[in-house]
Amino acid sequence: MAVGDSALSSPMGPPVCEKDSKALRFIEEMTRNADSVQETVLAEILSRNAKTEYLRRFKLNGATDRAAFKSKIPMIKYEDLQPEIQRIANGDRSPILSAHPISEFLTSSGTSAGERKLMPTIKEELSRRQLLYSLLMPVMNLYVPGLDKGKGLYFLFIKSETKTPGGLVARPVLTSYYKSDHFKTRPYDPYNVYTSPNEAILCPDSFQSMYTQMLCGLLERKQVLRVGAVFASGLLRAIRFLQLNWAQLAHDIRSGTLNPKVTDPSLKNCMTRILKPDTVLADFVVSECSKDNWEGIITRIWPNTKYLDVIVTGAMAQYIPTLDYYSGGLPQACTMYASSECYFGLNLNPMCKPAEVSYTIMPNMAYFEFLPHEPNSAVLTQNSPPQLVDLADVEIGKEYELVITTYAGLYRYRVGDVLRVTGFHNSAPQFQFVRRKNVLLSIDSDKTDEAELQNAVSNASRLLSEFGASVAEYTSYADTTTIPGHYVVYFELLVKEDSADSLGDSVLSRCCLAMEESLNSVYRQGRVSDNSIGPLEIRLVKSGTFEELMDYAISRGASINQYKVPRCVSFTPIMELLDSRVVSAHFSPSLPHWTPERRR
Ligand code: AMP
Repeated sequence: MAVGDSALSSPMGPPVCEKDSKALRFIEEMTRNADSVQETVLAEILSRNAKTEYLRRFKLNGATDRAAFKSKIPMIKYEDLQPEIQRIANGDRSPILSAHPISEFLTSSGTSAGERKLMPTIKEELSRRQLLYSLLMPVMNLYVPGLDKGKGLYFLFIKSETKTPGGLVARPVLTSYYKSDHFKTRPYDPYNVYTSPNEAILCPDSFQSMYTQMLCGLLERKQVLRVGAVFASGLLRAIRFLQLNWAQLAHDIRSGTLNPKVTDPSLKNCMTRILKPDTVLADFVVSECSKDNWEGIITRIWPNTKYLDVIVTGAMAQYIPTLDYYSGGLPQACTMYASSECYFGLNLNPMCKPAEVSYTIMPNMAYFEFLPHEPNSAVLTQNSPPQLVDLADVEIGKEYELVITTYAGLYRYRVGDVLRVTGFHNSAPQFQFVRRKNVLLSIDSDKTDEAELQNAVSNASRLLSEFGASVAEYTSYADTTTIPGHYVVYFELLVKEDSADSLGDSVLSRCCLAMEESLNSVYRQGRVSDNSIGPLEIRLVKSGTFEELMDYAISRGASINQYKVPRCVSFTPIMELLDSRVVSAHFSPSLPHWTPERRR
């Protein structure tokens, strides 16, 4: 195919270089042949893993075709795989799920029984992830010219890692990637030059890492062409960091010396090479950052920024207005869709509006199936197994839950994401991310479901019982007007007449902490280690408020018989009603318990 033929050519014209044109040809080839690539991927996965304990258990007998696979292998959730995962974690090296040795566990932000899910992975998956990364800039270059003339300011971080009892490393997928040679010794690519040195990204201390990444971003402010983080919440945390630390940063720039809080030896070494006194820049930072108004601060400090590179789909959509405010409305590019289990695909039109983002799943990454999403079909599916639809057969406008079969040994595994088909690129469907199932509250990568919130409320209610009170009703919302955002839980209490006065701030703030202690480890890590979530807040509302809430819902057409208190709210009139009935607000007084070690 000639380069100019690419269906991916934007109004700007053809790819900018041979490397890009190769990447774009690869996308074309994969998406034109989506179904046959999928068939080959499935056959590869099944043949190499034919002798695994898992596939033998289901008597696949070495078959590698779709029909046998679909008739014999069940669709599963993480909990179904827990015994196998536990055995691998405990050191069983036999081929349980994968014929290739499990190289490490990737710890998902999705949790099971309060702890991050452990996703087995194999060495070669790194190359598969790398391949998807390598497609992002060639697509972006079709839409934004000149990205080789400057740098990207990306706030990237590693997180702590642990070892399983059997000695395998367990860490988040991005930590695994940044620590890999694929990232650390990546060849020079003018389209992928970052202001952050590896030493800053790889520093395990989150303050030192953020401080030096921000410092480098300031030092090279005119070269910066794009500003990003993985998720929108991460970029806003960086802005907040600048608000809190600009005076010290300006001091370092003025004097050419490094904040003594940066103690990591290799990072200090690297920064000594970069940092030179610059009075003009220091004055500039002071004059911009000392202003009360921070609107458009990103473009004021980094005036050549063409776009923000952050995910603002799914739970991150709540941050779009704040990002607009700080960036003066710069485009927000969502480039890819990925998870610990598997990297899925990319956005072929990255400069589109956030509401229009669709991801094209790359058929070479894994074998993908789609469970038609019918929210009330639980009863039906118990009798007849649900029919999963293949990648090339999904229908525009319909919603599906994503089910994957990976090279690392997940077979017909439900990811928990609900996607809507918006169109096709060649024969590969494109999906809007609708939502993750069962997530009530999310600020950063935390995902709190209804059962977890209910458990947290019960634990708080237990504390109140000594004071003759209990939680009669509750609801919640993720307050992202503060940075970092925090959970707000509205309580309506049932209080014995004679104990009403004894309920002071002390017990209610202890209730906040008790709730935080009850929430999953990703939430608590966000509070303690990442500083990405603020203290939980309880707002007490007047007695009768939840009845008013019901009246309001009924006035808008809800059925009296079927009315249920929503456990999470986001609709402005409802929040206004709740906030107008608040009698007092209480915050968690300290950090909950969290260590990198798993509780089980
Ligand atoms: P993790 O398991 O921690 O790797 O998180 C993966 C999950 O993050 C996915 O299953 C999605 O629910 C969510 N996610 C990843 N990429 C995106 C995206 N581009 N838009 C919306 N949600 C995403």
